[in-house]
Amino acid sequence: MDENKALAELLFPNVTQTPEDLETLFPARNLQEGARVTRFAPSPTGFLHIGGLFAALVSKLTAQMTGGVFMLRIEDTDKKREIEDGVSEIIKGLKAFGVTPDEGVTGFGTEKGEYGPYTQSKRAGIYHVIAKSLVEKGLAYPCFCSEEELSALREQQEKEGALIKGYFGKWAKCRSLSFEEQKKLVEEGRPYTLRLRSPGSEDKRITFVDLVKGKIEMPENIQDIVLLKTDSIPTYHFAHAVDDHFMRTTHVTRGDEWISSVPTHIQLFSVCGFKAPKYAHISPIMKEENGSKRKLSKRKDPEAAVTYYAEEGFPKESVLEYLLTLANSNFEDWRRANPDAELSEFPFNLKKMSVSGALFDLTKLTDVSKNVISKMSAKKVLDYALEWSKEYDEKLYALLSRDTAYSEAVLSIDRGTPKPRKDIAKFCEIGAYVSYFFDEEFETDLSELPENVSKENAAKILSAYAASYEQAADNSEWFESIKTLCGPLGFSPNVKEYKKNPEQFLGHVGDVSTVIRVAVTGRRNTPDLFSIMTVLGKERVIKRLNDAIASL
Ligand code: GLU
Repeated sequence: MDENKALAELLFPNVTQTPEDLETLFPARNLQEGARVTRFAPSPTGFLHIGGLFAALVSKLTAQMTGGVFMLRIEDTDKKREIEDGVSEIIKGLKAFGVTPDEGVTGFGTEKGEYGPYTQSKRAGIYHVIAKSLVEKGLAYPCFCSEEELSALREQQEKEGALIKGYFGKWAKCRSLSFEEQKKLVEEGRPYTLRLRSPGSEDKRITFVDLVKGKIEMPENIQDIVLLKTDSIPTYHFAHAVDDHFMRTTHVTRGDEWISSVPTHIQLFSVCGFKAPKYAHISPIMKEENGSKRKLSKRKDPEAAVTYYAEEGFPKESVLEYLLTLANSNFEDWRRANPDAELSEFPFNLKKMSVSGALFDLTKLTDVSKNVISKMSAKKVLDYALEWSKEYDEKLYALLSRDTAYSEAVLSIDRGTPKPRKDIAKFCEIGAYVSYFFDEEFETDLSELPENVSKENAAKILSAYAASYEQAADNSEWFESIKTLCGPLGFSPNVKEYKKNPEQFLGHVGDVSTVIRVAVTGRRNTPDLFSIMTVLGKERVIKRLNDAIASL
């Protein structure tokens, strides 16, 4: 037995599988030509950043566009960062926006798919098979350096002004231990990490084409990076190569903070004998502040957490629509040309992503959302509003759920027309939007009466209207009834006529309808007043008119 083999047996006596066995267990996927296999691979830190949702959406669209597979893999090898229900938090966050994986982790302790386990802490056996084979080929070795020795090494490099620091070449003390020394230390029970014996050289560079950033050239990796930590848990780098190979990932879409690791990753794929995937590094979502750009921060910006959108009551359709405007610069043109198309019909293209980082703008999201909600049916808005208020606003939930037919009628006003109003951006605004439809929320408030109409004249208008009030059959009949009211009260039924001779009138038909609007709703600006009065019903309208008269 050669020494590498003997070392491999010494380090991994219980590993009996071979890389070939794994190749058979996780065969190439049987997908149509050009199908892309992607994954979202978060660490379960208990927080889903909007940038994470964005990256997951990009992965999902990339797979979906090509008839491929989108996986969710949980990268929990860094125990320090993990929090208890981090996994559920991520799954809940993705699900809330419909960015659900085709394969992988589906819940805490549950998963689907043939390429699992999809949680790294359950894949130790797989990593060890590859680690063992690298040792057998002389491509990995145990390193017994302690933390103290490693920091002494760093200090020495600092002192000598070494241009490249780290564990490599002459600095890599354990790289040249003899088998006898290795054996002795292992048998003594000395803790060790497993390091890559990097075949890289200082004077070589690698080039690769990133699907978002284009062609990139970087120095080759020369570091003998750690593959397995002292507890034999893999590092992110090693797990990435092994997982993405055996899960048959074709396209790695991830945050661009990983771009500097690509030389290491490409080298790892190569020493393991795997074909490297294609990379698409996504720029972070930025925020403009005092004229400069910075990353959206978990600490400073509440909108960095996806939970923010659920709490505020932005529907998932709005958030996705907005994220697509950030993802592809041509999305808005596409949307103008296809106003009613489903988002899934958009021809998403990685190459059209921003290289420098898209700017996040809550005002823009608000506008997008108003538009999205304006196109929803009243039933859908009501369902969403009930769902949202059930969790976040008990009082609103009680109002809306008491008589859902009435609530739906309220939300139907001005909906389904060619130019629907765009009043609502998020469900937390619905309470204020609908309040005057509910008697317990409505109070006579005449502070918004038109300035040019005296209290006395306002009272006359309301009395005359209350006396003759009949529920109109349609908008024009309703408007005629208001016009008829004008003449006897000294108001012009015609705005143009009024403008010609303003001194002849007390005001015009617009003032008359505003007086009625304020009496009935407490507001000067509302959706269509005829529809409002129809929904409120005759009895309620007359009561409000009389209450207003009494308070004048
Ligand atoms: N677990 C890594 C992270 O959370 C994933 C990087 C990758 O997608 O490869 O950043």
